[in-house]
Amino acid sequence: MKILVSNDDGVYADGLWALVRELRDIATVIVVAPDRDQSGVGTSVTLRHPLRMTEIRSPLDGVIAYSVEGTPADSVILALKLVVKDGVDLVVSGINEGPNLGDDVFISGTVGAAVQGCFYGLPSIALSIAAFGSHHFNVAARLAKLLAGEIISRSLRHRILLNVNLPDLPCEELKGIEVTRLGERRYADRVEAGHDGKREYHWIMRGKSEWHLVPGTDVWALEENKISITPLFGNPDGASREFLESIAQAVFRKLVSSEKC
Ligand code: MN
Repeated sequence: MKILVSNDDGVYADGLWALVRELRDIATVIVVAPDRDQSGVGTSVTLRHPLRMTEIRSPLDGVIAYSVEGTPADSVILALKLVVKDGVDLVVSGINEGPNLGDDVFISGTVGAAVQGCFYGLPSIALSIAAFGSHHFNVAARLAKLLAGEIISRSLRHRILLNVNLPDLPCEELKGIEVTRLGERRYADRVEAGHDGKREYHWIMRGKSEWHLVPGTDVWALEENKISITPLFGNPDGASREFLESIAQAVFRKLVSSEKC
């Protein structure tokens, strides 16, 4: 099995390497990710200037890693066209520091990388943990390994995009897993002005978000200390939603019954 890993926090981010450390137990892992933090660039693809890609020294043996002077989506395109020409079984983007819930998915670079995998017809997972400076990347990484294993073993090979968010909790404090829909999480944006000595500038600041805790949504699941899996592409109709439910519950059972939990 071959898994492509990318992210939007940059190729040296702790969350990415925590993820790779677990995934390499079950697959050959190839890392292609932006050379710097590209959080918030969404699905953006660079079409107006050339891109550079450099092989970096990987902190983990046996894992090939490339850094891309571009967006998360650029990284996935270059990976699939140049690095893993014979294809991969799965694309995983993350582990992002900070949640990607509700409206966030439309600007999330973490989701943007996974969207690109999906466009190439691959099952893809965007994975985020609802904290900055998280101590529980290992829980999210183990969940990703279990989910990847289920997806491959159940031959879920067509294009599907799962947006997965975890509360920042040790595994024994997780209250369950929910297959959800996107919730509403509205930001009150602020624009702060300043002057750099020559020109005025503006900073867009994300203010405190307003949460609408509607049952069945991703925002609600995390508030309940549960893991949220939101199918963003694919066909979450009756049958496949049930299928996804069964995958989610199987993964959660394995996560909480494992020795490391
Ligand atoms: Mn990010």
